[in-house]
Amino acid sequence: MTAIIMDGVAVAKATRAQWKVRVDALKEKGVTPGLAVIIVGDNPASKVYVRNKARACSEIGIHSEIHEYPEDARPADVLAKIIALNSDPAIHGILVQLPLPRQFDVAQILETISVDKDVDGFHLYNLGGLIAGDSVFPPCTPYGVMAILDHYEINLRGADAVVVGRSNIVGKPQALMLLARDATVSICTSKTRDLASYTRKADVLVVAVGKPGVITGEMIKPGAAVVDVGINRTADGKLVGDVDFESARAVAGFLTPVPGGVGPMTITMLLANTVQSAERFAVGATGRKAGV
Ligand code: NDP
Repeated sequence: MTAIIMDGVAVAKATRAQWKVRVDALKEKGVTPGLAVIIVGDNPASKVYVRNKARACSEIGIHSEIHEYPEDARPADVLAKIIALNSDPAIHGILVQLPLPRQFDVAQILETISVDKDVDGFHLYNLGGLIAGDSVFPPCTPYGVMAILDHYEINLRGADAVVVGRSNIVGKPQALMLLARDATVSICTSKTRDLASYTRKADVLVVAVGKPGVITGEMIKPGAAVVDVGINRTADGKLVGDVDFESARAVAGFLTPVPGGVGPMTITMLLANTVQSAERFAVGATGRKAGV
């Protein structure tokens, strides 16, 4: 078997076109969705991510603004900016690019962002809402994984799903989203005793570890849908995922590449969250029960 490659670039393009229609509809009513991005310090990768987000916004007509702070910025100044943005009517989404320098309490920063503008979905209310089923904003990366699986019509109901990795931004929300779609979900971590015994049973396998080659073809159930969230840079500067692409391709039914898989979908779902937020503000439907 040779896996069907799940093309995140193509899915992102089609999905962004759909969201652009909703941006245009909002603009006809006099509302331009707005995203504010706060970046602190000189992390080169963060700068690239922020630039890409701004470019993606402008491509579908979302207003975006970048607020840059030096590495030695005072947390109080960044907190004051977030509070100002929380009540800025031109802004419907606020994102603080992580990681932050050491003087910052990341939890305090994330929880200062209004729940109604938390387009990254990292606020405790939104993470907790995934358990209760009323999260306002699903975190963008697992939301993007769900969008790819749906695009390729991967059956989730009753499927055995395995998520490798349990971070708050990918693994745990991913597992909850799959559970909400009636998959039977296992979560594996660095402490899992026999990883392959789980992954070999997975109809749907999502890998978010950050280690190249942690999953190889022999660990995959024939025909499975495999989503590789990992982004790793090799010694020669190449970007690779967590899944050994060549051996996985020979066994899986569906497989995302790296690059060109989950990455473009993450930004797409940030756009989606921003547009949905603007739609809610436009009809006065914000507040903790807004739902998605
Ligand atoms: P974290 O480092 O926060 O989490 C990694 C997880 O992998 C941990 O839960 C860890 O377990 C687990 N793990 C580590 N080694 C193993 C192992 N040998 N077997 C099983 N599990 C293991 O990473 P993130 O979740 O933030 O990111 C994961 C990857 O996804 C990274 O490569 C990151 O760059 C990428 N990423 C990609 C995005 C995209 O847009 N495509 C967005 C976000 C992240 P334990 O908890 O026990 O330590």
